[in-house]
Amino acid sequence: MENIDWQRLEKQLAGWRAAIHRYPELSHQETVTTDYIAQQLSRYPELEITRPAATGLVVRLKGASSGHTVAFRADIDALPVEEKSGLACASTRPGLMHACGHDMHSAMLMGAASTLAQRQTSLKGEAVFIFQRGEEMSPGGAKELVDAGVLADVEMFFALHVQPTLPSGTIALRRGVATSNRDTFHIHIEGRGGHSSMPHLIIDPLIAASATVQALQSIVSREISPRESAVISICSLICGDGTTAAIPNDARLCGTTRTFTPRVRQQIKEAMPRIVQDVARAHRCRGEVIFDEWDYSAIVNDEALCDLAAAAAGETGLYQEEDAPAFVGEDFSEYRAIAPVCFAWLGAAREGEERAPLHNSYFNPDEAALLHGTRYYLSLAQKLLM
Ligand SMILES: [Zn+2]
Ligand SMILES: [Zn+2]
Repeated sequence: MENIDWQRLEKQLAGWRAAIHRYPELSHQETVTTDYIAQQLSRYPELEITRPAATGLVVRLKGASSGHTVAFRADIDALPVEEKSGLACASTRPGLMHACGHDMHSAMLMGAASTLAQRQTSLKGEAVFIFQRGEEMSPGGAKELVDAGVLADVEMFFALHVQPTLPSGTIALRRGVATSNRDTFHIHIEGRGGHSSMPHLIIDPLIAASATVQALQSIVSREISPRESAVISICSLICGDGTTAAIPNDARLCGTTRTFTPRVRQQIKEAMPRIVQDVARAHRCRGEVIFDEWDYSAIVNDEALCDLAAAAAGETGLYQEEDAPAFVGEDFSEYRAIAPVCFAWLGAAREGEERAPLHNSYFNPDEAALLHGTRYYLSLAQKLLM
């Protein structure tokens, strides 16, 4: 794309990113972030800004002639993480932080939207910029937009996610399955509490709960083929309130599973209730597991879109193909109900620096990656919309 003032764009990207980073908002509560993006993009009258949900935006740019309808998606929500990055633009809201780089995603997409808006006359078809709310909390903002029907005309979807394990500016792509299925479960174990000095008169839910934590790990190691991979993590065990005088009535556990095929996903959903119920019964308790009704499915990257993405990424500099999918859940997978999707990682690690992972208090992606991300979107637009 010609006549782009890259230096000016780079400054603009950093400014947008800093403003969004300073004011992180939790999933589905992104009101200030939504207003900010809308206000900044309203400077470009070519952009048609809509708000199909309470927060988040769908921004459309109609070209001068007919062609494809191509969507680019950024997520805009932050996390309940206390920021310790020491950045000049660090969070001003205690306990909240853009620790998953969604501030970067938003800024990069603003860069693509504003740059393309200024080239509307040479655009064919339509570009759709999705500033999606609530990625971090299922059921997520993607499903909502799909169900609302506001993206029904889109023919292909692209997204980028920053990745602190990859060198800054690298665009990495996994063909086929790119991320995992994610399920969330809640376990309730019911016993009968009482005086801690008289164990024979109580039914101890803590013993059953700890045996359950152990037993569930045998699903991955003993029931699933070694050729497949899966994760079952118990993330919390709540039982009692710190007193030593009494054993409580019940225990609650919750956690998450990650799988890559529908078969293994189903296998875990069948094995867990059996183990939870039977281990509880072995300890005279009652055990029950409930899976969240709806969670994120694996992103399956479309082969033809991957070819396009690889070509676009190659033009911007570093490109690499990933040989394994990532164990993360991402609701970008939802858009596949409408059209083929392509999800890529954008490296954001500074050379020689220790890299705090995603969702960490010290997460500090390289700002230089912003321009690479916007260039990737522009390069895709050049191929598909010009
Ligand atoms: Zn995240
Ligand atoms: Zn994320």
